[in-house]
Amino acid sequence: MSDWDGLPLRDDLRGLSPYGAPQLDVPYRLNTNENPYPPSPELVAALTAACSEAAASLNRYPDRDAVALREDLAGYLSAESAVPGQRVDVGQVWAANGSNEILQQLCQAFGGPGRTGLAFEPTYSMHGLIALATATGWVRGERDADFRVDPAAARAAIAEHEPSLVFLCSPNNPTGTALDLETIREIHDTATGIVVVDEAYAEFRRAGVPSAVTLLPECPRLVVTRTMSKAFAFAGARVGYLAAAPKIVDALQLVRLPYHLSALTQAAARVALAHRDELLASVEALRVQRDRLLEELPALGCPAVASDANFVLFQVPGDQGRVWKSLLEQGVLVRDVGLAGWLRVTAGTAEEMDAFLSELGSLMKSTRIGAA
Ligand SMILES: *Cc1c(COP(=O)(O)O)cnc(C)c1O
Repeated sequence: MSDWDGLPLRDDLRGLSPYGAPQLDVPYRLNTNENPYPPSPELVAALTAACSEAAASLNRYPDRDAVALREDLAGYLSAESAVPGQRVDVGQVWAANGSNEILQQLCQAFGGPGRTGLAFEPTYSMHGLIALATATGWVRGERDADFRVDPAAARAAIAEHEPSLVFLCSPNNPTGTALDLETIREIHDTATGIVVVDEAYAEFRRAGVPSAVTLLPECPRLVVTRTMSKAFAFAGARVGYLAAAPKIVDALQLVRLPYHLSALTQAAARVALAHRDELLASVEALRVQRDRLLEELPALGCPAVASDANFVLFQVPGDQGRVWKSLLEQGVLVRDVGLAGWLRVTAGTAEEMDAFLSELGSLMKSTRIGAA
């Protein structure tokens, strides 16, 4: 923690520490749900060519409205997430530097002092932290024992707190659980504010699990956020986006910084979208490894939560911090999300999963952990 003495820092920020998972140089980095597959040489060449072309006019500001990129994203969402006959239009899509910036713009436009956001924990901690940074009040609802959102409990929390923003995460980080559309629709119809469904992991959902994008025609205050950081293996480029009613996209224009999305980012993202078949091919391989984790973790004595994402939350005996540290000593970095008795692991390559399962298996057999 820093010493803020003498600085006119906001009172509500004093004493806080910056958020961030450890970025450690270890052989197996399974703690931030990144996609383990780097871009192919062909994709690197295409990205380089596009950035080179964009570089020739870097004396000019980029397209402030990122129209070409938003058109590509709308086309992608129409194909990936919509129901037959439903089209996502460019006016319903907005893009920014990661979905975290999208979430921040939503809080800036619809939250702020005197207003409240509501989420159901355990869930993505950045929702609360972005609310904090935008001086939006924060209320913590709870998920049930199966990490689902109980519609009756949600209705009660909404009636009590009248949130301007409700944050739902589906598939939920860190539990991997997806919400059913009926629950989302019910929460939308109960709330008077904006209902955000963070679908950062949507592409990893199991067959038959629909996206909340399909609810957009009937839910005018629904916002579905997405990212290219996970399934698209594009975390380093920082591209996130949303789909919502055009009115909501218009409202965000009031708070976005002019020219927020660089010409290089826009160009690179369009190349990645044009190569989506190649990039999304990794999704199937990662689903296989996720399902393997779900099968093999219980066999090691670590019950796991069914997941629609590229990670799995699993139970460990005793203090999860100790298990986390022991794994790290063996070069395996997983995530301690602060849930007593649980750890989260990202689905990676078969080789990474071999290493993780074998190290965890040895630990579970050792007297230090397994017999504790
Ligand atoms: C990883 C993640 C994101 C991605 O954020 P970006 O800023 O797009 O990289 C968003 N929401 C959740 C729940 C995540 O786990």
